[in-house]
Order: sequence, then C-alpha cells, then structure tokens
Amino acid sequence: MTDYFPLIRSSVGGMVWPGLPAGRGALMLALQYQLEQTQWWPPERLRRQQLRQLGLLLQHAHETVPFYRGRLEAAGYRHGADVTDAWFSTLPPLTRAEVHAQGGALHSRNVPAAHAPVTQGQTSGSTGTPVTFLATPVTQLFWQTFNLRDHLWHRRDLSLKLATIRPDRGVRGEQGVTVPHWSAAIAEICPNGPSSILHSSNLIGRQIEWLAEQDPDYLLTLASNLLELAREMRRRGVKLGRLREARTFGDALRSEGRAECAALLGVPLVDMYTSQEAGYLALQCPESEHYHVQSESAIVEILDDGGRPCGPGGVGKVVVTPLHNFAMPLIRYEIGDYAEAGAPCPCGRGLAVIRRVLGRERNLAVAPDGRKFFPSFAAETWTHLAPIRQIQLVQKSPSRIEVRVAAQRRLDASEERDVADALRESLGHPFELAFAYLEAIPRAPSGKYEDFICEIA
Ligand SMILES: [Zn+2]
Repeated sequence: MTDYFPLIRSSVGGMVWPGLPAGRGALMLALQYQLEQTQWWPPERLRRQQLRQLGLLLQHAHETVPFYRGRLEAAGYRHGADVTDAWFSTLPPLTRAEVHAQGGALHSRNVPAAHAPVTQGQTSGSTGTPVTFLATPVTQLFWQTFNLRDHLWHRRDLSLKLATIRPDRGVRGEQGVTVPHWSAAIAEICPNGPSSILHSSNLIGRQIEWLAEQDPDYLLTLASNLLELAREMRRRGVKLGRLREARTFGDALRSEGRAECAALLGVPLVDMYTSQEAGYLALQCPESEHYHVQSESAIVEILDDGGRPCGPGGVGKVVVTPLHNFAMPLIRYEIGDYAEAGAPCPCGRGLAVIRRVLGRERNLAVAPDGRKFFPSFAAETWTHLAPIRQIQLVQKSPSRIEVRVAAQRRLDASEERDVADALRESLGHPFELAFAYLEAIPRAPSGKYEDFICEIA
C-alpha cells in the first residue's frame, strides 16, 4: 500500500501486530487492497471490469425496478446480454426531474439480502429539486472506503484533530459537537480523531470563533464557505496555527477561489467531488489539482450538448452510473453539474481525469448573444477598488445583471463605476450592471454561497 499506511488496529485479544481487524474494518481493507492496484490499471482494463459490473446492475434493474423494465426494453435491452459501450451510450439519461417524478418506481422490488437493510436519504436541494434516494450497507461501505482512500492519497495523519463545518442535521446550535473520531468506520481500522463538527448555517463570525477554540490540524467545509471564512479570517487577523490542510466538498471550487483560499490560509487545499445520492465521484489527485474519477464504483461521463463524450478541455454535463446501488439503481443519471474533462494524468493512475467541476446549470451565465458560459470574476480584480465584503451576481436578462454587495458602506459613484468596469472586463461582455446593497449575502439552507445565479428561465 504505497509507502504510507497507518498501523492497523487489531480486533483479536492479545494481538497488536500485525493488526487483525474484524467486520466493517476488514471489508474496507479488502476493498482498499484492490483499490491500491486498480488505480494503476490502464483505462481499457478498468472499463472491461466496469462493463461486467454494469451488466449485473442492468439485469437487476430490468428484473426488479418497474421504471427500468420499460426504459431498458425501449432501448433494445436484452436480458443477460453483454453490455457494450456503443449500446450504453444510446440509453437516454435520467434527469433529476425524472427521479423526483418517478419516486418509488425507481426502487427495486427485490433488494438482494446482502444489500439490506435499505436506508433513505434526501439531497439538500439547495440548488434545485431535492432528490430522495436509497442507500445500502454496500453503498455505505464504498463511501467509507473512498473516504479512507482520500486520506491515504493525501497522507493525512489520522490521529490528529479535524474540524468540520457542514450542513449536518444532527448538529444544531452555536457550540457544535465533538466526537472521538473523524469516522466511526475508520476508527475500527486505526487510531483516528478526534473531530468537532459545527453546522454551516452559523454566521461566519461564529464559525471563526469556533475554529479558533478548536485549533484543528485539518479543516473540512463547503468550498464556498471556505472562501468566505478565509477572507474574513484575514480581515480579523485570525490564524489557525496548527492547520495543515483545508479540505472542501459540496460545491464547485473555481481555480481562482482555490488559489485565494490557499494563499489566505497558507495551507494546501484539497477538494473532492461527492454527491449524497451517487457517492464519491472523484478525488483530487495527490500530485495535481485535478480529480480522478472513482471508476471502481461509478461510471462518470461528461457529455456535450449533442450527448457525445467530451474530450480533454471539453465542458459538458456530468452523467453518472453508480455501479453498486441495488436498492435504487441510477443509470446514466444527469446529476445537474457541469465539468471539464481532463487529459490522462502524469501521476500514472489510469482513473479518468476531471479537470474542473464547474457548477450547476443555474451558475451558468448567458452572454448577450445567447451563448452560455461559466463566469469568472476573481476577487483580486475588485477587492482593491472598494470596501466590499461579499459580492453576488444575479443575472436577470441576457443583458442585465444585478450586483449584490455587502459592504462596510454604500459605494460612491466612482467606486461603483470602477467595480462595474472590472466585473465587465472579467465577464468578457458589456453587461448592464445594477448595484443592490445587502447586510449580508444570503446563503442557501445547506450553507452554500453561490456567487453567480442565473434567473433567466
Ligand atoms: Zn493523478
């Protein structure tokens, strides 16, 4: 397992070394042993095994999921036939709206015993329709194992302290909670923890006080929340002396936001691409800022407007097929994100590369000529022009954008003009910009900030 692995905890009395784990810990290590090798496989070899697993998932979906019986047969599916890439690419994607509308018709009527008991969850719905999904002990095992892989790739010291700020239903109030581990599953494998968790709905000021009290070695939070935190910590002169690494999840991390966070906090930043309903989709490469698809548990496609796979540098819709959810199979599921496909990684891993995750449809801007693009307006282009704390752009029409500003005071006319010029230059189009002043930029219930929202239907 490369040259870094924590000492394994033993479940057998009288044995400390080598560690002999039991139950879930043993299962996670059995998977991890394989992941250590499969990450180096060439893409064709990974693909062959994915298609074998996909074949079994489709058989199960055809047999036991009412919605898929019809959808697969309409696409010419023959039960038990080998699945080819060419055929798979003709299967219509499953939209979020369909998942919402179909409800129970997407649930398996006969979940295999090894995949029971089934649990139900719901996505936060902060940037679209909430989706209800089913999870199983198998999907949870993969979740925990990819979490472990992320730690191993980034060589974290699992015995140190983690502070997490996230939308967690179990954590209320301004104090947060402290638990003895980062993850109960990982604590079964090796010494792990402690960690403290605070709900991301707390105001940034309270989050900073709490972090200073916690003094963590690692910090995990939503990407947009980290950017707000890092900017406000700099303003207040707060520094987390022990911090080694900031970790992000949950919303698109722009490259300029990544660079700004790393500079403000003075630590490396590591992002991941996960979803509640489809699990770990991609982890940041240990040697680069892009992401490796977790091909052992999901097929991840990036498709252009014509439904064709994007080549390196191409931006398209993310379509995912988790390979092991036998309670609620999601087959070619349009998860609602856009991403840029990447070229093969120099690190040597055969796992496909996502260069950037760009965000959701409503974070796309519309140019005056109707073309859509992901807007970029790095803080360094406007922070020096006016005393602005936060900014959010809301596009109202193809020519007009509202600039929502939370500032120490109203900007004067020349400051507004300078900021507007800087924004127009960054956006690359001569939008009409109207300023609106707010106490603070509102966050979604999940705690996510969106710096660009398109309200054009
Ligand atoms: Zn890599």
